[in-house]
Amino acid sequence: MILILLGPPGAGKGTQAKLISNGRNIVQLSTGDMLRAAVAAGTPAGVHAKEVMDRGDLVADEIVIKIISDRIEERDCRQGFILDGFPRTLMQAAALDKLLLDKGRKLDVVIEMRTGYKELVERIVGRFSCAKCGEGYHDRFKRPHVDDVCDVCGSTEFTRRADDNVDTVTNRLMTYYADTAPLIGYYFAKNILRPVDGMGAIEEVAAQISRELDAIEG
Ligand code: AMP
Repeated sequence: MILILLGPPGAGKGTQAKLISNGRNIVQLSTGDMLRAAVAAGTPAGVHAKEVMDRGDLVADEIVIKIISDRIEERDCRQGFILDGFPRTLMQAAALDKLLLDKGRKLDVVIEMRTGYKELVERIVGRFSCAKCGEGYHDRFKRPHVDDVCDVCGSTEFTRRADDNVDTVTNRLMTYYADTAPLIGYYFAKNILRPVDGMGAIEEVAAQISRELDAIEG
């Protein structure tokens, strides 16, 4: 199955992508994670991306399209994949259509995660993750069971994303509504858009998405 999780920053795409990935054994492809890895590694793409990401703007289409086109060639994508944070522009969506067409594959569904403004900002500003294994946490909604110790790997080091702050959030939301929200219409017109209410608890949202995916797998 090939699916896209679409929604503004803070809608819970990364969290839900991990759950789907574990539950259905399909790989999660997050362009945000890949770009952060490129930034950390200091590659040319990473050097360009860092400044853009810190501002909350979008990295150039050609860069992310190349990253995704290389990545979906890999063996672990044969069973399908979950796109988390890609496509983010109509140009990226058209490029994805072409990539899939060329490979004789097809996009099965686009899950649109809907969330209110207050929740988005609250989720973004409070989130952090384990510096070692990447497990995601939140100051209010998902604290580690033991304070300052990762539930998954026991590490005591945590990080916060440079762009997860109140100043950048407004720009990231503006960018989403200007550049990415047109994709809602794009996929609606192809009749593969399935909206879910992203406001509930993590498990509730996961259950809704699961129902949509089961219906497709039929
Ligand atoms: P995310 O982790 O999905 O919130 O992405 C973090 C940042 O990475 C975004 O604010 C963008 O600057 C950049 N980014 C991630 N995915 C894309 C994409 N598909 N197109 C352009 N920029 C992206």
